[in-house]
Amino acid sequence: MEIKDVLTQQQDFFNSNKTKNVSFRIAQLKKFKNVLKENEKLLYNAIYEDFGKSEFETYVSELSLLNHEINNFIKNIKKWSKRKKVSTGLANFPARSYIIPEPLGVTLVIGAWNYPYQLSLVPAITSLAAGNTVMLKPSELPAKTSEVMAKIINDNFPSNYFCVIEGGVKKTTELLELQFDKIFFTGSIPVGRIIYQAAAKHLTPVTLELGGKSPTFVLADTDIKMTAKRIVWAKFLNAGQTCVAPDYILVDQSIEEALLVALKEEIEGSHKNKEDIDENYIRIINSNNFDRLSKLIDNGNVYFGGYLNRDNRFISPTILQNVSFEDEIMKDEIFGPILPVISFNDLNEAIKMVKERPKPLSCYIYSKNRKKIDKLLNELSFGGGAVNDSVMHLSNSNLPFGGIGLSGMGSYHGKFGFDTFSHYKSILDKPFWFEPNIKYAPYSKKKLTLIKWLLE
Ligand code: NAD
Repeated sequence: MEIKDVLTQQQDFFNSNKTKNVSFRIAQLKKFKNVLKENEKLLYNAIYEDFGKSEFETYVSELSLLNHEINNFIKNIKKWSKRKKVSTGLANFPARSYIIPEPLGVTLVIGAWNYPYQLSLVPAITSLAAGNTVMLKPSELPAKTSEVMAKIINDNFPSNYFCVIEGGVKKTTELLELQFDKIFFTGSIPVGRIIYQAAAKHLTPVTLELGGKSPTFVLADTDIKMTAKRIVWAKFLNAGQTCVAPDYILVDQSIEEALLVALKEEIEGSHKNKEDIDENYIRIINSNNFDRLSKLIDNGNVYFGGYLNRDNRFISPTILQNVSFEDEIMKDEIFGPILPVISFNDLNEAIKMVKERPKPLSCYIYSKNRKKIDKLLNELSFGGGAVNDSVMHLSNSNLPFGGIGLSGMGSYHGKFGFDTFSHYKSILDKPFWFEPNIKYAPYSKKKLTLIKWLLE
């Protein structure tokens, strides 16, 4: 079927009003949960084939988040979909006012490759929970995961409600020519621009979940061992191919050496430094990215790691030292297992360097000094982050997840996702029995005095 026909069919189904029924939505979410359970093995196998992601990491960083969101929606969408009464001013007496959450219509979700299930399926099920229909285009780079999502969704849901359309740039370009009611995109900044431009043609609202360089501040008073443990886990999870990974470290010069040693010991202890002893450590997604990352290592000052194997796209956790903001590695998001460490003498100077660059998706602060933590939280603008931890903020669905400036626009997770895929329709609802003459002509001074009192 042509994709424009799928769109027409989804528009027809949406217009049948079936998705406005909350019980229908809950039933679909429960069904999806079962489909995921029944096909768990297929999902694990596909992602392992694509880039060696283990069952453990796939569960922790993909399927658990997905199941948590589904459960959260099943529990709450009845409440979130209810119309909400708000007060009405005297000027409109006698009337009631309320807000009706309503779905947007046919939505297009475009996923990124690095967490292929989570980044495609969480927005998709959020959109369904809000009462929309979904056309999902996962990333084509992990071919097996794209294929398995297409299989389990297209076999179990009618295409006029929820379907997967596989393909790369050509297919996405074709999709972007159509008029959707919402586009939700996760991916890089340059492609984000393409999406925004295409959406502008139809004035389609967009949510853009993009990337960037997320700084990690390590201040002199931190718990160095625990800091290293948390940074190493967050940075080398998915071999650094995480949008919210600590991109680089800004460390107080007085503890630089101690932090470098602690990072090294932590990597050695977590057995991710040699490919033969940790088969769970993830591979780089493709040769292009492998070559891009290799150059960054070749041109950098390696403190630890730097072991590469092009045959199986393995790059060991690597720490670069004596890095400056002018170095090649500081130009773009690294998106790989390379961690540059920059030291500073003056926190204000470090803040200034970060502020001169695009607003990051995330920022992490390791310190025990509340005053300094609050200073950083107050002075820096970024999507979201954590104090004395990294990455884990996105596992709390009570926190909105999204970027600011070049790192994106809009947010999702939990209720924030429901809002992203809803329109809040505002209604003033009046009876017929009373209508004061005050707003009608002929106007008079007396009416003006009264109306001023009523409207202000
Ligand atoms: P990408 O921008 O290359 O691809 C994302 C999607 O866009 C894919 O589905 C792809 O098919 C499509 N696409 C690629 N080129 C296109 C084009 N010219 N026209 C139309 N569509 C096109 O991103 P990626 O490599 O999959 O992911 C890596 C980037 O995504 C990183 O920058 C990362 O920080 C960011 N990211 C952000 C988040 C977030 O939640 N904010 C999450 C994961 C990844």
